[in-house]
Amino acid sequence: MWRRVEAHPGAWDMIVVGGGATGVGVAIDAASRGYDVLLLEQSDFGKGTSSRSTKLAHGGVRYLEQGNIGLVMEALKERGLLLQNAPHLVRDLAFVVPNYDWWEAPFYGLGLKLYQLLAGKYGFGESRILSKQETLEHLPNLKTEGLRGGAVYYDGQFDDARLLIHMAATAFEQGAALLNYVEVTGVTKDTQGFVDGVSARDGETGDEFRAAAKVVVNATGAFTDQLRLKPEPSVEPMIVPSQGIHLVFDASFLQGESAIMVPRTSDGRVLFAIPWHGHTLVGTTDTPIAAATLEPVAMEEEVEFILATAAEYLTKAPKQTDVLSVFAGIRPLVRATGVANTAALSRDHVIHIDRSGLVTITGGKWTTYRHMAEDCVDQAATLAQLPERPCGTRQLRIHGFHGAAKELGALAVYGSDAYEIRKLIADEAGLGERLHPALPYVRAEVVWAARHEMARTVEDVLARRTRALFLRARAAIEMAPAVAGLMASELGWDDAVQAKQLAEFRAMASHYLVPS
Ligand SMILES: Cc1cc2nc3c(=O)[nH]c(=O)nc-3n(C[C@H](O)[C@H](O)[C@H](O)COP(=O)(O)OP(=O)(O)OC[C@H]3O[C@@H](n4cnc5c(N)ncnc54)[C@H](O)[C@@H]3O)c2cc1C
Repeated sequence: MWRRVEAHPGAWDMIVVGGGATGVGVAIDAASRGYDVLLLEQSDFGKGTSSRSTKLAHGGVRYLEQGNIGLVMEALKERGLLLQNAPHLVRDLAFVVPNYDWWEAPFYGLGLKLYQLLAGKYGFGESRILSKQETLEHLPNLKTEGLRGGAVYYDGQFDDARLLIHMAATAFEQGAALLNYVEVTGVTKDTQGFVDGVSARDGETGDEFRAAAKVVVNATGAFTDQLRLKPEPSVEPMIVPSQGIHLVFDASFLQGESAIMVPRTSDGRVLFAIPWHGHTLVGTTDTPIAAATLEPVAMEEEVEFILATAAEYLTKAPKQTDVLSVFAGIRPLVRATGVANTAALSRDHVIHIDRSGLVTITGGKWTTYRHMAEDCVDQAATLAQLPERPCGTRQLRIHGFHGAAKELGALAVYGSDAYEIRKLIADEAGLGERLHPALPYVRAEVVWAARHEMARTVEDVLARRTRALFLRARAAIEMAPAVAGLMASELGWDDAVQAKQLAEFRAMASHYLVPS
């Protein structure tokens, strides 16, 4: 990547700041149109919100209830394109809404039918009303007291950080240069006050450099306003940060293959309990916070709220001691006047151009990243007077595309890269050994991540190249020394670097453990 950056002559067509779903999506779109693109991420790809979502490629049943039909239709179409272009990473999943009141079955049954119809040719499966018996076949450990039946509908599920890594590889294949651990420290302007590049710092060497661009795109999620303030200290803030957490339990809490969707919790939100990588993922909350941080921490009230709500539905009520991991993410919600609670703020995306010419893209959803990128590149290209070229991402396959990835077993999420990882194992048998008895990850995945996926820290491997930290925080901490050892030989770390890496990982990972 550095070689690609150093060899680049003159100004880039576009510099993208932020390596989450939004920024990497923009880099794919712009590079595939033939523009020169540099993307800079201050930490690792997906360190922000994009690894901390509920992992649903969905239209958002809740937005239907809010009457936002346009948003739902757009997201349902994007859900379909995501499955088409990344079938190794997205799958359909049955969601059951359990009914405890007489009016719920017709009410949700009808709404979910509409949800299915809005997807048109991008449909995932038939919504229908379920008897009590059928509901329990889907969800064997749902509380039966007062249960009348349910309604089932289908949506998409994916592994957010893994998809992002494959998107970064796709952007690279299209010609983009992407660097992690490079922070944009300033936005530079020409003599007329128009943005003409960035100043940046390499987080590994401390070296500072300047890169010129015809247009700079701010895709920094919850950090949007901080970057906007750099060229223009008087801009009005546009983001209201709101935190959402998830708890992870073992698979016994949610038996069967389906997810539970609770359409209205006591605080008026949606709650999901979802099977994910052999575990049960439950979330989320919507808690306004004062400012965004890179490693947000779950609040005690949020943990209690999820435990209490889950206990209303599950025969085995989860306790604090059952939590294997807790993670928090920050929604970059776009400010609106006259709206008191963050759950009611729009999930539509916004493209905003400041007077300085800095283009900001924010809001939206993981599911709609491709469409957001298309809109953003259309506008950024016009502003920068780049030659007009049509967007080509509707049909663009995501790196590792594989039509029958299930056959690849534990390595399925890698798609076609799984064959390369198998080759590593075939060449060196020890690399086939598991890193921990409770998780399927093998040593070869660490080597692969360091060689081919730009993993630079122990955390990159345990949090985002594999999902160990998000599934079982204690197991991830136990795996860390073996991961550090493998990375040391790949990246040439001495003992001091290894020790530092381990200490940093342990300190960070402690936030994923719930104190019991
Ligand atoms: C709890 C929760 C659940 C969600 N569930 C879903 C879901 O199920 N489905 C769905 O579709 N959407 C979901 N979303 C929404 C989705 O996750 C977000 O819309 C999306 O991840 C935002 O991506 P982003 O790239 O805009 O932001 P981010 O992923 O936060 O990326 C921004 C990046 O910018 C970097 N950055 C910041 N400042 C600088 C700088 N100065 N220099 C360089 N880099 C910088 C950050 O380090 C960060 O990596 C959920 C959100 C939350 C919070």
